Amino acid sequence: MKTDSNDTIFGKIIRGEIPCNKAYEDEKILAFHDIAPQAPVHVLVIPKKHIEDLRSASTEDVELLGYLNLKIGEIAEGLGLKEGGYRVIQNNGPDSGQEVPHLHFHILGGETLGPLNHSVT
Ligand code: 5GP
Repeated sequence: MKTDSNDTIFGKIIRGEIPCNKAYEDEKILAFHDIAPQAPVHVLVIPKKHIEDLRSASTEDVELLGYLNLKIGEIAEGLGLKEGGYRVIQNNGPDSGQEVPHLHFHILGGETLGPLNHSVT
């Protein structure tokens, strides 16, 4: 699949210009461990297509967004999180504290997590 030349940190990770600790990869998506983990397991799942966030997703992305959500479940299971469960967080834009303008889903788990207002940046 074409990976457009996006200049974000995640674009560079997709293209292999910046290393990552990979958890899963296929032609459409990549999952890797967060560099500043907020839980014992903290993995980011991203599409290889550059979509900034859900505000800029379109009907063209419906299949990819569904695929991402299914894969998040599989990846979490592969990380040993199925039984205990896990949290998925996805930030959109400045009010959310989104730092990297490339759509990404945080998988957090491996312990009993605090309340939802616990910030993850
Ligand atoms: P956001 O705040 O945009 O939702 O989340 C961005 C996440 O990307 C943060 O949790 C941050 O620690 C992570 N991150 C930023 N730069 C890098 C990097 O170069 N490598 C990895 N693995 N994670 C990164």
